[in-house]
Amino acid sequence: MNSSADTNAPQVSAEQEDFMKKLRATLEGLPHEINLYLFTDRDKINDVFSDSAREVIRFFRNMTSKIKFLEYDLTHDVARKWGVDRAPTLLVAPERYAIRWLGAPMGEEAKTFLETLILVGSGKSNLSDQARKIIGKIETPRKIKVFVSPSCPYCPQQAVNAVKAVVEQPEKVSLEIIDIQCYQDLAYKYAAQSVPQTFADDVLIGQGAQSEELFALSLEKMEPQTLFIPDSDAELVETDLLIVGGGPAGLTAGIYMVRSGLRTAVVERGALGGQVATTPVVENYPGFTQVGGKTLVDIMVNHALQYVQIFQGEEVVDIQPGKPITIITSRRRFTATAVLLATGANHRHLDVPGESRMAGRGVSYCSTCDGPLFKGKKVIMVGGGNSAVTEALYLHHMGVDVTLVHRRDQLRAQEHLIKNLKENKIPILWNTAVKEIRGDQRVREVQLENTATNEMSTLKLDGVFVSIGYDPAVDLARKIGIELTPEGFIRRDAKHRTNIPGVYSAGDVEGGYKQIVTAAGQGSEAALSIFEDLINPYWRKKQAGAEAKAQSVSKKTKQTK
Ligand code: NAP
Repeated sequence: MNSSADTNAPQVSAEQEDFMKKLRATLEGLPHEINLYLFTDRDKINDVFSDSAREVIRFFRNMTSKIKFLEYDLTHDVARKWGVDRAPTLLVAPERYAIRWLGAPMGEEAKTFLETLILVGSGKSNLSDQARKIIGKIETPRKIKVFVSPSCPYCPQQAVNAVKAVVEQPEKVSLEIIDIQCYQDLAYKYAAQSVPQTFADDVLIGQGAQSEELFALSLEKMEPQTLFIPDSDAELVETDLLIVGGGPAGLTAGIYMVRSGLRTAVVERGALGGQVATTPVVENYPGFTQVGGKTLVDIMVNHALQYVQIFQGEEVVDIQPGKPITIITSRRRFTATAVLLATGANHRHLDVPGESRMAGRGVSYCSTCDGPLFKGKKVIMVGGGNSAVTEALYLHHMGVDVTLVHRRDQLRAQEHLIKNLKENKIPILWNTAVKEIRGDQRVREVQLENTATNEMSTLKLDGVFVSIGYDPAVDLARKIGIELTPEGFIRRDAKHRTNIPGVYSAGDVEGGYKQIVTAAGQGSEAALSIFEDLINPYWRKKQAGAEAKAQSVSKKTKQTK
């Protein structure tokens, strides 16, 4: 027996082992074989992308006999046969589908790759009925390009949308998934400076991750769509509580509610975890001295999934108060006794000329997603809070030439982060406001104003990262008549009840300290309060009180008569 080998073996938990067992069974059970053709360039030395692609493919290939892995040099006839002229390029089941991966399916993209294998191996698109109907209307060919990066938590959703479209309509739809880190030249050519970004026949049809239905509609109409209302015959799901938002508040509430014995569903239109998913590093969540935001999210999501059903990539488009409350998403209808709005917050904009025009062309709100594209390039990070400093440090460590630009002479960030900023000698432009962002295809320069002297100057650069705080995501709340505070947050009582009976709130949408730990705390508080109310609803108490009062008034009136 070799005891040292045993000690050095990677520790695999029972849960991981169980997951791998299920994954093996799923892959082995796929009805179709999947040929994976990887094209590499033997003259390229230390090609990390080819090495990673090979490693990821082998990992899955070793799990099942259903995957066949073939590797060819770029000069081989097979490369010519499939029209491959870049390395690494991965073709997925090219005999049946036109799915081409330019780069390596690593990081977040490994999830996309696994889903692709399952979709291609099953031969079923798994699209929602609504999305399938739209894709079915496409009559002329569509060549999709989705630009992604391995550190972008939003990218898998959009890339998988595109894979589903190919599997649904293989004769008409083809796809290239392009890693911007590996193919910077293509990102540059398409001016795709933020991810995910989606083109069809070289026309931009989506910036950011879309719901399946909005993606399908954008692909059909060949321009980005922002609203999709499902048909009235959409699937109906009955539940006790529907939680809108899959960030720390929503996920925590989900865990608490199901453990209390109530039927609960979480609906999240984008990436699970909210802002945490794109936070490079978290250092103040108890139990973790230092943890990547996405890693923390994965831990939370896995925990939540043990209890609660999560409907991801689905957008709540309307809530109709009543008994029950009806919630309409882009895919189905829910009825629920209570709704918890945990919709979080959206990143704030500078609102200066050029900002929206250059969004995705060098203006970015997500350093973890888009940072890799700016390695060795000059950017500014605008803001003076914890987020701006954390992200400036992240970009600096990635090899980006970053300068912090702050409108005052003092940072709002925690002392610990400021110390880190100084130790890393990250330059700071104090008392400086961005007045305009200029460029054509991509950002070229910014106009700056010294807020102390009003002096104007110009700075040549490649990118502008904006991290100046968040505004509460209250569009839905506003639409259904929820009262807001003068600062724009949801107004709620001590039990997280809003002015609409049965509708509650939790997390950043309520304002307050906006920490991961406080959002989780608010989620648990709201869940406990909802549980108490559903057992003995407060609005029934109020109603009963009002009826009793009315009866006593009427009695008194009769007596006086
Ligand atoms: P924040 O704390 O609200 O800071 C926003 C920063 O942006 C401030 O420095 C503000 O300047 C500046 N700003 C606001 N509007 C601006 C504008 N129009 N133009 C230029 N600058 C502008 O936001 P955050 O840093 O995104 O953090 C949000 C929340 O998450 C906070 O509660 C924060 O504590 C938390 N967070 C915590 C951590 C951590 O603990 N490690 C990490 C990330 C986030 P002024 O200072 O002049 O107002």
